[in-house]
Amino acid sequence: MIVPKIEFRHVNLRYFTPKGETLALRDINFKVEQGEFVSIVGQSGCGKSTLLSLLSGLIKPTEGEVLIDGKTVTGPSPQVGFMLQQDSLFEWRSIVDNALLGPEIRGDDMGAARRKAEALLTRYGLGDFLHSKPSELSGGMRQRAALARTMCLTPDILLLDEPFSALDFQTRLSIADEIGDIIRKENKTAVLVTHDIPEAIAMADRVIVLSRRPGRIKSIHDIAFPSHGNDRPGSFAARETTEFPSYFNTVWEELEVHVE
Ligand code: ADP
Repeated sequence: MIVPKIEFRHVNLRYFTPKGETLALRDINFKVEQGEFVSIVGQSGCGKSTLLSLLSGLIKPTEGEVLIDGKTVTGPSPQVGFMLQQDSLFEWRSIVDNALLGPEIRGDDMGAARRKAEALLTRYGLGDFLHSKPSELSGGMRQRAALARTMCLTPDILLLDEPFSALDFQTRLSIADEIGDIIRKENKTAVLVTHDIPEAIAMADRVIVLSRRPGRIKSIHDIAFPSHGNDRPGSFAARETTEFPSYFNTVWEELEVHVE
């Protein structure tokens, strides 16, 4: 039997505050296979970030279970890497020293880590910027540097929380294309949270639509682009396929229903 990489089993999550309690997620059930790219869409406040916090082990379900490789998540693990909206690069460190932050904190062999960081940055097109400061890089280059920093710890699951939303539209399109390509080539399992429907569809093998709070799974859509042939198109080319508009309309209508 193949164990799913990620599994949510009947997960409820309540936040308790002095003002009362909020049911943020209700009866969340889904599985993600190794190497799959899943997007989660839903309106602001529907529990998308909460879902990622559960996966990263930062919070525990009130009821139910979150499993990685068939084992209950009990806390943060180096197996899970994060990419956030803000790249959080340290301005006083060079790009390569930013990428080395994780190995340094973990106490890894720094010689090997440096070779790995340099190889990753070079592969991501930043070979000429190893010793530059983050302020010398464009927004898209900074996000690639942030990805290298995450990949330096060799996670096998990547959680992407609106990672492109601080970028301008053009950069956003091309960096999503590049980063999607890197994640697929490296056979990572990825969960992307976004409120951008085209981005969710263009990058993923499946799109999970969450209802408004308390977030429940409204639907799950398998995304395939047979018109493009056997190879999955990159996120840029996916937007040009004949299948794309119909996926967009379906997800759009599902989210619109909640506005009414
Ligand atoms: P999204 O990422 O979809 O915008 P969140 O997961 O951030 O949604 O939040 C889901 C709901 O839970 C929201 O109503 C939010 O106000 C509430 N919430 C999030 N974090 C906390 C917290 N630490 N304490 C109390 N309520 C929270």
